[in-house]
Amino acid sequence: MTYIIPTDHIELSLEQSLDHCIKCNICTSACPVSAVTDKFPGPKYVGPQAQRFRQPRQPTPDESVDYCSGCRVCNQVCPTGVRIAELNGRARAKIVQQKGLPLRNRILGHADILGMLGSGPLAPLANTMLSLAPVRYLTEQVMGIARHAPLPAFSTYTFRSWFKRRARKQGRPSILSNRKVVYFHGCATNYYEPWVGKAAVEVLEHNGFEVILAEQNCCGLPLLSNGAFSQAHNYHQGNLRKLVPYVKQGIPVVGTSTSCTLTLKEEAPELLGLHDADVNLLAEHTYDIFEFLRIEHAHGRLRTDFKPLDRTLPYHAPVSCGRTASGDLRSMCWNWCPVCT
Ligand code: SF4
Ligand code: SF4
Repeated sequence: MTYIIPTDHIELSLEQSLDHCIKCNICTSACPVSAVTDKFPGPKYVGPQAQRFRQPRQPTPDESVDYCSGCRVCNQVCPTGVRIAELNGRARAKIVQQKGLPLRNRILGHADILGMLGSGPLAPLANTMLSLAPVRYLTEQVMGIARHAPLPAFSTYTFRSWFKRRARKQGRPSILSNRKVVYFHGCATNYYEPWVGKAAVEVLEHNGFEVILAEQNCCGLPLLSNGAFSQAHNYHQGNLRKLVPYVKQGIPVVGTSTSCTLTLKEEAPELLGLHDADVNLLAEHTYDIFEFLRIEHAHGRLRTDFKPLDRTLPYHAPVSCGRTASGDLRSMCWNWCPVCT
C-alpha cells in the first residue's frame, strides 16, 4: 500500500520517512509510555529502527510496538518529521493480520457496541457489575484489563435520545438558521457523557447555528489503535456515506471528541491510505469545536458574552511544539527540542 505524506516541497512515503531519523532520541525522552515501563523500548527503537527489519512476508521482529498508545507525542517532537506513530500503527496492524485480534481488543475496539449494550436503562446494573471486585478480577484474568483501572460509567440515557426528545418537545429544531452544523458526538458523548453534547449544542445554538443530528457511526479509532484496519475501514466508509452529503451542501462537521475529529481528518485517511475526493472533503470540513469557535472568533462572529462558571476545572496542557505563526516557541517540549534550544 502506498502512503503519501505531503510536505512543503516533496512527497514521501511513510516508510521513506524513517530515513530522516537522525537518532537524536528526543522522541524517546518525550514518550509517555517508555517513561513508565521497560517493556516498551521507545519510539525510536520500535519506529524507524525496527521498521528497517519489517518485511512484508516475514514475522515482525519486535512485538513491543503493541505498547505504543498512539498518542503522537513523538510525531510532534521529532525534529525531522518521522511519522513514528503511523509507522507503529501499521506495524501493529501487521501483527494483527498475522495473529488475529485478541479478545480484549476485539471487545474494547467496538466502543459503539459496548456503549449500546451498557447505556440506557441497563446502565445502573452494568455500572454496578463493573464495580464489583470479583467481576473486575475475572475481567483481569480473562481479558487483561487491570482490575484497579478506572472504567467510564455508562449513562442512563444517550445523547441521541436526549436530542430527539428535545426536538419532539419543541416540534422543530430549537433554532432555524441558514448557518448549520452537523454535530459529531462520537461514542463517548453518546453513551457515557451526554452532557458534553448538550453543552456543545447550547454553545453552537447560542452562536446562531442550527445543529443537525446526522446519522453517524463510531469514527473507528479504537479499531485503528488496535490494528484492526479492515474493520476500521468499514467504519470510515460508513461515516463518509452518512456525512459527506452534508459537507457537499456546505455544512461543516463539528465534534467535541478531539480523537474522533482527528480520526476523520487525519488518522483514518493516513493509516488506511485513503485519499479520494470524498475522504479529502470530509477531512477538510471536519472541525474540533474549539477550532471551529476560534475560526468564528477570527471572523468576528463568536458571541463573547461569557459568564463565570461556579466550577473548578482541571486544565490539560497539550504536549506539543506550540510554535506559533509569529515564530514564538512556547511549550513543554522546549527542554528537548533542538529547534528551541
Ligand atoms: S525524534 Fe525523530 S529523528 Fe530523533 S530519534 Fe526520534 S524518530 Fe529519530
Ligand atoms: S505514539 Fe505516543 S506512545 Fe507511541 S511511541 Fe509515540 S509517544 Fe510513545
